[in-house]
Amino acid sequence: STNIECIDVGKSYLGDGIKTNAVKNINLKFTKGEFISIVGPSGSGKSTLLSLLGTLDFPTSGKILYDGEEIVKKSKKTISDFRFEHIGFIFQQFHLLPTLTALENVLSPLFARKVSYNKIERAKEVLAQVGLSDKANSLPSQLSGGQQQRIAIARAIVHKPDWLLADEPTGNLDSETGDTIFELIQQLNQQEGCGVFFVTHDPKLATKANRTITMKDGIVISDKTGERIC
Ligand code: ADP
Ligand code: ADP
Repeated sequence: STNIECIDVGKSYLGDGIKTNAVKNINLKFTKGEFISIVGPSGSGKSTLLSLLGTLDFPTSGKILYDGEEIVKKSKKTISDFRFEHIGFIFQQFHLLPTLTALENVLSPLFARKVSYNKIERAKEVLAQVGLSDKANSLPSQLSGGQQQRIAIARAIVHKPDWLLADEPTGNLDSETGDTIFELIQQLNQQEGCGVFFVTHDPKLATKANRTITMKDGIVISDKTGERIC
């Protein structure tokens, strides 16, 4: 299990001599298994926070602890191993590999890895969990947007991460398809026990999470647990 703690986390970008403080003064604790939505206007730091939590990038101030341990200063190999063990990512653009079949896309995180389970069996299992067993041999171009996102979700959880990090995964989908993707992620949160960070612009979806973090101008302006508006 991995609990995550942000202590005075800040991230600034430097470009053309102009410094952007993308996130500032983030102090948050997350417990494995939580379902957390992150909302806020464009440019408020949601994606930045998500990439820091997922070790795709590192804070310029403060620190992030995973079960009490900071991983920022370790080697690239250690960071990639850490990510393989603990983190799955999905994005607004599905980022599937176009020349690989659905099953091969799902298998791809396991290609160069040693694991204790049967890779093909596991890939088929997660493909079934997202309801696309019958599309195993299809190419991404033969699938709808909602189906492609399901494949991306299967790929993100095939290695059994503790946390699924979702950056506007419904942003490219019509609202009905978006709702079913949200429900699928909720179901996986319960079945697989992995925690979820769900970045969204959709307040209706955000309020369905157990905990909603609202960001503005790089800071957390509210952190609400257990409130459901709908
Ligand atoms: P959100 O996800 O809420 O839209 P972002 O985290 O993408 O917000 O961006 C927060 C701020 O940081 C914005 O002002 C954005 O322009 C800036 N920013 C994000 N990524 C970079 C980057 N790689 N280089 C420079 N500025 C960036
Ligand atoms: P999202 O839709 O998730 O908010 P964006 O479209 O804002 O993502 O950003 C996409 C990518 O561009 C991200 O990797 C982000 O870090 C980077 N980015 C965002 N704003 C800037 C910026 N002002 N300068 C450079 N890179 C940026």
